[in-house]
Amino acid sequence: MKPLGLYVHFPFCIKKCHYCDFLSFEKISYEIIADYCNAVIKEIEKRKQDLNDYTVDTIFLGGGTPSLIPEESLEKIIVSIYNNFHIANDIEFTIESNPKTLSKEKLDFFLSSGINRISMGVQALDDTLLNFIGRVHSVQDFYKNYYEAREAGFRNINTDLIFAIPNQSMKKWQDTMEGIIELKPEHISFYSLKYEEGTPFYERYSSGEWTENDEEDRNMYWHAVNKLRRKGYIHYEISNAAVPGYECRHNLKYWSMEEYLGIGLGAHSYLRNLRFSNERDLNKYIQNANNMEDNRIWIYQNKIKDDISEFIFTGLRKRKGICLNDFNERFKGSIEQFFPKEIDNLLSGNWIEIKENQMMLTDRGVDVSNSIMSKFIIL
Ligand code: SF4
Repeated sequence: MKPLGLYVHFPFCIKKCHYCDFLSFEKISYEIIADYCNAVIKEIEKRKQDLNDYTVDTIFLGGGTPSLIPEESLEKIIVSIYNNFHIANDIEFTIESNPKTLSKEKLDFFLSSGINRISMGVQALDDTLLNFIGRVHSVQDFYKNYYEAREAGFRNINTDLIFAIPNQSMKKWQDTMEGIIELKPEHISFYSLKYEEGTPFYERYSSGEWTENDEEDRNMYWHAVNKLRRKGYIHYEISNAAVPGYECRHNLKYWSMEEYLGIGLGAHSYLRNLRFSNERDLNKYIQNANNMEDNRIWIYQNKIKDDISEFIFTGLRKRKGICLNDFNERFKGSIEQFFPKEIDNLLSGNWIEIKENQMMLTDRGVDVSNSIMSKFIIL
């Protein structure tokens, strides 16, 4: 049996945050949510036949805000996953959540359903900033839910943070990092705010209301990394740190080119060397699933050149980088054979380094990671 990560997408939120371009909808009726959950179950049943030789060893319920889904619907989906797929005993089972959508009862229900990891979108420990970026919760809501999760018995908690928000001073970011680390979550993700097209923040950014301050962005990033390292966290991926042993196994699959199946609206998959993604129109998705029709709207057979590029640029996101032996074995040739000039230039510029058979970004390389990764794209 081969290992597989399973992702299930829930595209619903109480209210859209001003910076968010994820596939999610606000103010949706409970009827539609229930219809969507039934459609997800139909898709799970449809995929069963493709997965007889796989064991699902990570499940990630993402969104949107999966913690909004009524317990009855969520339970049906989880039962369907367990009934239709082989599930590993030591599964890592994550649910994404937002403060204010959790309660003691809900957290107990998650744990009793086998969910053993919870990710909380706190973003900042500052009510003015939370309000400014359009979050529906307060700092107090986060603390309440965090302690409730601990009391319920969650021993694996992630907190998501955002930095480089307009009007966020370095002091405010330092306070957020300080406050979060004091809580000792097992995992911390920290992303810099991006102005994504189609969002209210993008409009304000393009109208010239704000400019990007790269220097401040990098200062905030390295403040977080250095603080986390000092506190014993492993900075294992560009934007993620964990207490040793609590690195997110599911997300590591994306960065290690391992297989995963995405279920739900707009979900992506990488399975049997095919990349595919689902319908993005909510009504069509529900209708197709009800008619037992295929919801995949894009299917692509990866070529060797795609595999090589993806292996390198996803692998370089990990701070330990890519294993050169794995590369040789997978692609029957060394990385230097494929990219002699690029490797040479990057090594001599101290953008990457090779240590103990691993090739990784240097700290200096992390600051320009996208441009380094783009050098490994084979057209
Ligand atoms: S809660 Fe998350 S998914 Fe929902 S709108 Fe905000 S950032 Fe986007």
